[in-house]
Amino acid sequence: MYDILIVGGGLGGLLSGYVLSKEGYKVCIVEKNHQLGGCLQTFVRDKCVFDTGMHYVGSMAEGQILWRFFKYFDLIDKVKFKKLDEDGFDIINIGEKDYKYAQGYDNFKETMLRNFPDENEALTNYINKLKEIKNSFNNYSSSRLDLNTSSIQYFGINTFDYLKSITNNTRLQNVLAGLNALYAGKPESNPLYVHAIINNSFIESAWRLIDGGEQITNHLADSIKANGGTILKRSEVKRFVMNQSDELIEKVELKNGEQIEAKKFISNVHPVKTFEMVKSNRIKKAYINRINSIEHSISIFSIYIVFKENSFKYFNYNYYHYKGEDSWGVRAYDASKWPEGYMAYTPATSKSDVYADSMIVMTYMKYDELKQWENTTVEKRGEEYLEFKRKKAEQLLNLMEERFPNLRSHIKAYYTSTPLTYRDYVGTINGSIYGILKDSSNPFKTLIFPRTKIPNLLLTGQNINMHGLLGVSMGAFMTCGELVGLKYLFGKINN
Ligand SMILES: Cc1cc2nc3c(=O)[nH]c(=O)nc-3n(C[C@H](O)[C@H](O)[C@H](O)COP(=O)(O)OP(=O)(O)OC[C@H]3O[C@@H](n4cnc5c(N)ncnc54)[C@H](O)[C@@H]3O)c2cc1C
Repeated sequence: MYDILIVGGGLGGLLSGYVLSKEGYKVCIVEKNHQLGGCLQTFVRDKCVFDTGMHYVGSMAEGQILWRFFKYFDLIDKVKFKKLDEDGFDIINIGEKDYKYAQGYDNFKETMLRNFPDENEALTNYINKLKEIKNSFNNYSSSRLDLNTSSIQYFGINTFDYLKSITNNTRLQNVLAGLNALYAGKPESNPLYVHAIINNSFIESAWRLIDGGEQITNHLADSIKANGGTILKRSEVKRFVMNQSDELIEKVELKNGEQIEAKKFISNVHPVKTFEMVKSNRIKKAYINRINSIEHSISIFSIYIVFKENSFKYFNYNYYHYKGEDSWGVRAYDASKWPEGYMAYTPATSKSDVYADSMIVMTYMKYDELKQWENTTVEKRGEEYLEFKRKKAEQLLNLMEERFPNLRSHIKAYYTSTPLTYRDYVGTINGSIYGILKDSSNPFKTLIFPRTKIPNLLLTGQNINMHGLLGVSMGAFMTCGELVGLKYLFGKINN
């Protein structure tokens, strides 16, 4: 009998497991894969470590919010980071021109003003708005975390409309929206707060993980075990079993038939899938219908390139290329013109600062393109699927070579992933990259709280708060706060 059973060993499950095992609860985490981490999983090809879902993080300078979370999670001295270029951690290439995002608000503004000299007022307003929104969210990066509900006023504001309201310069609007791939935003519905929290964190400071994100997973797992916790891998949960009076969950049943009892349960699995595993009259049909009707973010196609030794120079920034003028338009691509843009970067390794051993290139891909293989499983999708992947990779490489001439001559080998890869490795709906899409036109429909109608079942991760390292850390606090008190947990960070 455990105090807490956590279903899913993704970032949300591990962080919650860390908090609660540290607080003295007897915790067990059950993960369906042989590798923990969910989107934090890495894989190795030709001795290169590839991340599947953790490319860079923000607010990691000493004293900033993610740094303070990492300090609490005992990760600060264990995980290796590299600061991206101060004067251009992200380059947005639009209309054949490079626009740099610089770190630090003054630097960010000065750098933007070089390309948009008449837009001082718009940029000042933009920066002030980002800071204002960030401060309304439990003081995401000020010196004290606090209980704060003033953020609600921003839920209904749309990013696209807001950017249009501060400037008539459409190029600047598109450059400021140029990181929309980080939240897979749709112009008609993306809430400004999602844009603001994410852009703010990177403008504060932007970092790459050296040698991949798996270090986070491994150190968290070690700490949980050192705190007396149990982690069971290759243990897929099939259902949550209610007690006889349909009041509480009593245990989970694994795919292999094994049953594990606990007093309380936390699900790190997508809410749609979680409630498919719970059969209880306590969960109202209206709630299920609402959750099932929420739209999910689009998926992606990725190329993982292995370079010939000492052949391709490492670049210390991320490169976002847009073929057209509209940085939002890439996700709504017409299949005949795919790909409409991409994000590319060279992962940081402890091997060399000068040469890159690999590169990851990502672009959106709709799940529908993979429909004919949707009933297949990993490594068993057939020759036609492999041919589809090869064709798509070559199309993407053709577009890449327009900006990185002769890229192919540096390549030793490349590997690819599709929406089906994400669906099958992480268990996301249709390979959706960030899960639930928040909607500024109907904000409360897309808000899901950690607490459920079953008193001993909580939710965590899965974009319930927000996705990403920062969003999921804050989300784990909100989930665990239901058990030990959020104010108490904030106190741990503040002190
Ligand atoms: C392509 C991509 C790029 C990204 N880039 C960044 C980035 O640069 N920076 C950043 O901060 N964030 C990034 N993110 C987002 C970040 O990776 C995620 O928000 C975060 O890792 C999600 O963690 P999670 O706990 O919510 O869920 P998940 O990672 O989805 O974890 C859920 C876990 O539950 C397990 N599971 C599912 N069903 C069951 C079951 N029935 N029984 C047992 N276990 C089960 C899964 O195997 C998985 O381990 C990226 C994501 C993607 C996909």
